[in-house]
Amino acid sequence: MPKTRCEVCDSKQNEIIDVREMMFGTKHVFQYLVCNDCGSLTLQNIPENLGDYYPNDYYSFVEEKQNGFKNWVKFKVEEYSLGNNSFLGSMFSIFFGLDANFKAIEKCNPNKETTKILDVGCGGGILLHKLRKQGFTKLYGVDPYVANDIITKDIVIKKASLRDLLEEEKKYDIIMMSHVLEHMENPSQQLQEVQQLLNENGRLIIRVPISSSHAFEKFKNNWFQIDAPRHLFIPSLRGMNLLSVNQNLRMQDVFFDSMAIQFTASQNYAKDIPLKDQVNIPFFKRFSPKRLYYSLVSRKLNKIKKGDQATFIFSK
Ligand SMILES: [Zn+2]
Repeated sequence: MPKTRCEVCDSKQNEIIDVREMMFGTKHVFQYLVCNDCGSLTLQNIPENLGDYYPNDYYSFVEEKQNGFKNWVKFKVEEYSLGNNSFLGSMFSIFFGLDANFKAIEKCNPNKETTKILDVGCGGGILLHKLRKQGFTKLYGVDPYVANDIITKDIVIKKASLRDLLEEEKKYDIIMMSHVLEHMENPSQQLQEVQQLLNENGRLIIRVPISSSHAFEKFKNNWFQIDAPRHLFIPSLRGMNLLSVNQNLRMQDVFFDSMAIQFTASQNYAKDIPLKDQVNIPFFKRFSPKRLYYSLVSRKLNKIKKGDQATFIFSK
C-alpha cells in the first residue's frame, strides 16, 4: 500500500514530487510526499528490492577512499572538534568546519576511559576507529548489515538490530545515530527502542538531513540529500521536534552542519550528473574559490537553521 500520510506527523495533507535515484545514477523514479503541515518528506513506496540500492561497496563508496595526508588533516580537525587546542587543527577547521560527530560528542562531556559510546548503523566501524585514535576505549557498534561481529580490545561491533541489543540489557552513555535514522522504517519506534539503551544521564546524538532547508527550497527534487530511495523519510526541523517530543526525548542542543556539497552535488543532479561521477574530486579542488564560497554560504545558512542537515543532542 502506498503511504498517504506523513511519516512524522501523520497528516494527510501533502503534495507528491518525483525524485530520481542519482547516487549511482540508475535514474529510477520514486515518489515522495511533501507534508503541508510539518514539511517532512516521506517515501511513498518502499521498494521490495531496497537492498539492491545498497551495493556491497556502499560503505566504502560513501566514505570514499582516503589518502594518508587527507586522513591526517581530518585527524587534526577531529582532535580540534573534541576541544583540544591545536594551531593546525584550528587552521584546517577554517576550511573544513568542525567535525560534527566529534563536536557533538564534546558537548556531552565524555570521559575517554569510562564513557561507553554506541554507534548505531556503524557499518565497518569507521567512526569508532576514529574515536579510538582520539583515545576513547569503550566503543561499541551495531549494524545488521555487516558481514559478521568484529571484536577488538576497545571496539566491539555486533551484527545485530536495535531489538537484538535490547535483549542484552546493557546501557550506554552516548548513542550516536549519524545519518542512519532516515534509512530506517518507522522512526518513532526506532527512537523508542534506542532510548531504552540509554543510561539515565546519557545522551542521544542524532544527525539527519533537514527538509526545511534552503537547499530543498532551491533545488527541490534535485536536492541531493533526498537520496531516493535510500532515505525513507526526511524530517523538517519541526518534524524532528515532533518526533522527539512524542518519544519523551528532551532536546538539549542542536546545531546545523551543512556543507558546500549541498550546492555542488545538487547542481550536478540538476545537470543529470550522478554522485558516483562526482566523488573523485581531487583534494586540491576542495580549496577552489567556488567551494570556498559555498562553504561560507553554508556556514551562514547553518547559523539561521536553514542548512540541509543538523545534529541533535537529546536526553531522556
Ligand atoms: Zn508532517
